[in-house]
Amino acid sequence: MCWALELNSLLLRNNSITHDLATAYQISDNIVVLYRGAVVEAGDVELVVKQPHHPYTQILMSSIPLASAERTWTTETGIGASGLQLSGSAGCKFADRCPSTTVPCLQAVPPLFHTERYRVVSCYLYQSAPALAVAEMGKAFTEPTR
Ligand code: SF4
Repeated sequence: MCWALELNSLLLRNNSITHDLATAYQISDNIVVLYRGAVVEAGDVELVVKQPHHPYTQILMSSIPLASAERTWTTETGIGASGLQLSGSAGCKFADRCPSTTVPCLQAVPPLFHTERYRVVSCYLYQSAPALAVAEMGKAFTEPTR
């Protein structure tokens, strides 16, 4: 089964696709964060949203406006600080925008690292964890309660 079909079958079981993270957090037990069509982080919505590990998920979460007098508006995103260039499509899809890019990131797509019971992260920063195939991503999901 190809990668896209494997991902589709996983998504169809859970049924919701959205750009609204607040809504996803409210209605979901598990979440899959995609960047340019690739899974970057997935697992228990409480872990992924409240303690994001992947650099893209972290930037995504920090971009959500909060009603706070202490938090001022800024144009600084933290994206694109690496200065490294992608060589074709061989590496991580986030490498040209990631603040933590290193040479291995440009050479091969990072697998899904099973960093904890209910989370996988596609990022070489977590390569000490065991890798899972995309078809095994469901192992990082909690049992549905909603
Ligand atoms: S694999 Fe490298 S480029 Fe991709 S998100 Fe992780 S640190 Fe950044």
